[in-house]
Amino acid sequence: MSTSYAPPVQRLISELSKLPGIGNRTAQRLAFHILRASADDAAALAESIREVKERIGLCDVCFNLTDEPRCRICQDSRRDHGVICVVEEPSDVIPMERTHEYQGVYHVLGGALSPIEGIDPEDLKIAELFARVAPDANGASAGADAGAERVREVVLATNPTTTGEATALHIDEELRVRAPELTVTRLASGLPVGSDLEYADEVTLGKALAGRRSL
Ligand SMILES: [Zn+2]
Repeated sequence: MSTSYAPPVQRLISELSKLPGIGNRTAQRLAFHILRASADDAAALAESIREVKERIGLCDVCFNLTDEPRCRICQDSRRDHGVICVVEEPSDVIPMERTHEYQGVYHVLGGALSPIEGIDPEDLKIAELFARVAPDANGASAGADAGAERVREVVLATNPTTTGEATALHIDEELRVRAPELTVTRLASGLPVGSDLEYADEVTLGKALAGRRSL
């Protein structure tokens, strides 16, 4: 990076270039945009970043993003709490919701299994999923979910990638042992292979959900 910028500008460029998909050139362009912006607009951006870090945490039940102990979906009594859709990231909940096909609740794993990257089942919210599905088999139930209705179906909606498939397979195998009476389904094909749920249009995703199959 050029060292001809004043240190504060340099620092802004360096922070921006840490964002995904932002190379050094884009970081410079964004930095100059911020420099040209009004003090109010720049402060609003800084404040919004500070606020999400301070106020947003993970739902006690499903690990989706929330500004309350439980997310809005988990709090919603009109949703079917007997069906849990398992996704990798909080950003995957949004496209699922956009389909308007799904009335159940979610479980956000926080990633996918990847032996290469050293991501093991313990690094994801997999044990927490088992506790929601088969609380008796696990001894202690996830306190926050105590008294919740029994889970009938788990929809595995991890990404159709190598790691997403491996994660679905692992969870399916474990669920068969822990909760044999449970229906486990996987999103039907139709989703572009090798890409993320996040980028699927709602029609494709809606069809994949409607045509989910038993594993
Ligand atoms: Zn939740």
